[in-house]
Amino acid sequence: MPRHLPMQEFAANAARALQDTQQRQALRAAAATFAARRQAALQQAPDWQRWREQARAVKDHTLQHLDHYLESFERNATARGARVHWAADAGEAVRLVLELARAHAGGLCVKAKSMTTEEVRLNDTLERAGIEAVETDLGEWIQQLAGETPFHILVPAIHKSRGQIAELFAQKIGTPPGADPPALTAAARATLRAKFARAGLGISGANLLVAETGSLLLLENEGNIRLVTSVPKVHVALAGIEKLVPRLADLDVFLRLLPRSGTGQALSTYQSLLTGPKSRPGDEGPEELHVVLLDNGRSRMLAHEVTRPSLACIRCGACLNVCPVYQQVGGHAYGSVYPGPIGAVVTPQLLPLADAAALPFASSLCGACRDVCPVRIDIPRLLLHLRAEVREGTPGVPAAKPARLERIAMRVGAFVMARPRLYRFATGCARLLDRLAGPLLHRLPPLSRWRAGREVPQLARKDFRTRWAQRRRS
Ligand code: SF4
Repeated sequence: MPRHLPMQEFAANAARALQDTQQRQALRAAAATFAARRQAALQQAPDWQRWREQARAVKDHTLQHLDHYLESFERNATARGARVHWAADAGEAVRLVLELARAHAGGLCVKAKSMTTEEVRLNDTLERAGIEAVETDLGEWIQQLAGETPFHILVPAIHKSRGQIAELFAQKIGTPPGADPPALTAAARATLRAKFARAGLGISGANLLVAETGSLLLLENEGNIRLVTSVPKVHVALAGIEKLVPRLADLDVFLRLLPRSGTGQALSTYQSLLTGPKSRPGDEGPEELHVVLLDNGRSRMLAHEVTRPSLACIRCGACLNVCPVYQQVGGHAYGSVYPGPIGAVVTPQLLPLADAAALPFASSLCGACRDVCPVRIDIPRLLLHLRAEVREGTPGVPAAKPARLERIAMRVGAFVMARPRLYRFATGCARLLDRLAGPLLHRLPPLSRWRAGREVPQLARKDFRTRWAQRRRS
């Protein structure tokens, strides 16, 4: 599979993904496990809705005063010895990191899982410059060995079976064929430890940035981020400008929400708060700490009141786990670094809309993503907004017209629905037809084609108005 699938070909990518039964099974099982764990974690959190409101209020406030908090972060991080850099776009961000890598990496960088570095395609640039960049999160490393991008924002190799991973490791690092998970983990550990020992530069993202103290919060379960941020002499963190919160105390609510939403854990196993480089030789941490603050389209999102909430996302992955589209087609079909519902929202805004115009339509608008989102992002509303932009044709985006059949169906539907008597007559006919000839009609084209892979329930014998009237009479 190519490392990046074409985004505009979502329908073709999705059709291909639907043929992969193993992938769909693995994905559905994993997503269902995470969703069930999240549900169980929420049952132990009676204040869940209050936390969600609190977190969203913090995010809304920060985004409204982002310029102020960014300056405050820069001032406080600099006062504690970090160096803060500003990157207007992906090109500037990779140039800054590349410069640091050339100066310090000694040919080898170790990386913590970071969607932001994926967004700017940092690994490709480092590779072209002859600098090895090794992913150290196990799932991300598996994807790197396979030559694939992450399949999920939190669990990059969620779609791979144990057997596939064993085969991959046997090919790439020479483990015995059919090795079991403990043996595979031990092999990964030994290989990666050797890389940590040699690397001159550690590269990470950040879950959140604290303006008040100039600190970076990093959450993980494997311990690799601790090594990335403390073993190499120099550490660079690449973070989007939306990652800010004003105060240290604000972290509290996000530390509760994020792991519960993502993996169903009450707390992430490791929570690292980094404030500046080490100040004494015996201390833990890098000698130099650089923070690159990335815009890359975020200011555009910030400027518009409707799109601004897209920046409240804390990348927990919960919306992917409940999305019926993601569960069927998986992450690569989106052809974007950010897949799933939030990917369909942020990708068209980070890129020119024309480059990702198919993604806002990759949703059934069922609203499950909005219900689970810990920061209450109304993803369906944002998708509708972006669909309207695509349809209307924004500068650089040709207006996309709905298919002729779709247009006719919409007009007929609107005509019938605007006339209550006609609507009742039409639905009455549809019910009768469904009873008398439904099974036969469903077997004939065009319905048979549409029905392939879909369950179509039988129409109710009585319509809602009739049942409602009967209920009021009784
Ligand atoms: S949109 Fe909400 S649910 Fe989806 S990743 Fe972001 S914070 Fe999590």
